[in-house]
Amino acid sequence: MSAPPAADAADAAPFREAVVDLGAVRDNVRTLARAVSPAHVMVVVKANGYGHGAVPVARSALAGGADWLGVADLHEGLQLRAARIDAPILAWLHDPGADFAPAIAGHLDLGASSLGQLSAIAAAAASVGTVAAVHLKLDTGLSRSGIPPEHWPETVARAAELEADGRIRVRGIFSHLANTSPDEDAVQLAAFERGLESAAAAGLRPELRHLASTAGALRLPASRFDLVRIGIGAYGIPPFGDGTTAAELGLRPAMTLRGRVAAVRRIPAGAGVSYGHIWRAARPTTVALVPLGYADGVPRQASGRAEVWLADARRPVIGRIAMDQFVVDVGDDRVETGDEVVLFGDPETGAPSADDWGDAADTIGYDIVTRIGPRVPKRYVGGE
Ligand SMILES: *Cc1c(COP(=O)(O)O)cnc(C)c1O
Repeated sequence: MSAPPAADAADAAPFREAVVDLGAVRDNVRTLARAVSPAHVMVVVKANGYGHGAVPVARSALAGGADWLGVADLHEGLQLRAARIDAPILAWLHDPGADFAPAIAGHLDLGASSLGQLSAIAAAAASVGTVAAVHLKLDTGLSRSGIPPEHWPETVARAAELEADGRIRVRGIFSHLANTSPDEDAVQLAAFERGLESAAAAGLRPELRHLASTAGALRLPASRFDLVRIGIGAYGIPPFGDGTTAAELGLRPAMTLRGRVAAVRRIPAGAGVSYGHIWRAARPTTVALVPLGYADGVPRQASGRAEVWLADARRPVIGRIAMDQFVVDVGDDRVETGDEVVLFGDPETGAPSADDWGDAADTIGYDIVTRIGPRVPKRYVGGE
């Protein structure tokens, strides 16, 4: 048995880390649940909880009032079950050869995006000796997965037969918005309503009709139906990409990516920095080395474009971001090896947001938080 770590050891900032504030997740879910009430809230924890850690995020989301969890893959749902999370879970993206039996035995609800999936789910339910809970997914215009409208009447008829046979229960009918424009959302909404009507005509009585992700849940009340599927909002990142801040939505970013300055040096005018010397000092300046690179998920595309928070100010990233490290310019300010540097976090603290890094790398905040590499340890704060 080793001794518990001393308090100051726990407080010392590691070389690099992602701090995940579970209290923020809980508060964000509570805020969003209030906003969409009486609709139920599913918190989406696919892709390891958008890079934040699926199990701790799931627990915090449930503590904040989520009554469902959503994942893409079956094994993501089964990992939550292995962690003894017994809330309802929906999984919707399936391997063509998926074995649904373990998922049904594990009480996962299953999205069905084709007649073939529906049949495979029904057969697996028979093999397990139970009734599979199914959410039929209609493609209302995203053109990814989902049952195309022309196959919908046949699919709902088959689903009604399988329900009558006691193989499945159609617990939900859902679709997903492209979040393109209010007009296009309205077209998808109308297609969804038509799909619900023909499902009702076939005799289906789903208890959960669901369409909205975070964006629709916040800006398109008509898309809330019985349940909303909240992903990015739970992590405190705005879904819109239009400059709306987390604080304006009453949300707080859960993840802070930070490290400690690994080296500091004074360089003369004309000195080039990092590979290819795409940046050269216009005057003598002080530069600081940040020990995170693209192996850690820091996008190389943000070279020369992003900023970090260091010594009480935003500092520009200069030169190429490398695999393990990049350099920032601090001018004539005093910075020392070991100083804390924040790549992104809560912009209310002065730090850049994940969306700021997304802008710098021609991508979105979703991509920034989800891509953090395995070399970056996570530290959880604010949990129960
Ligand atoms: C990822 C996902 C969501 C969550 O979307 P956010 O924009 O993160 O809220 C909802 N529904 C489906 C089907 C998804 O794949």
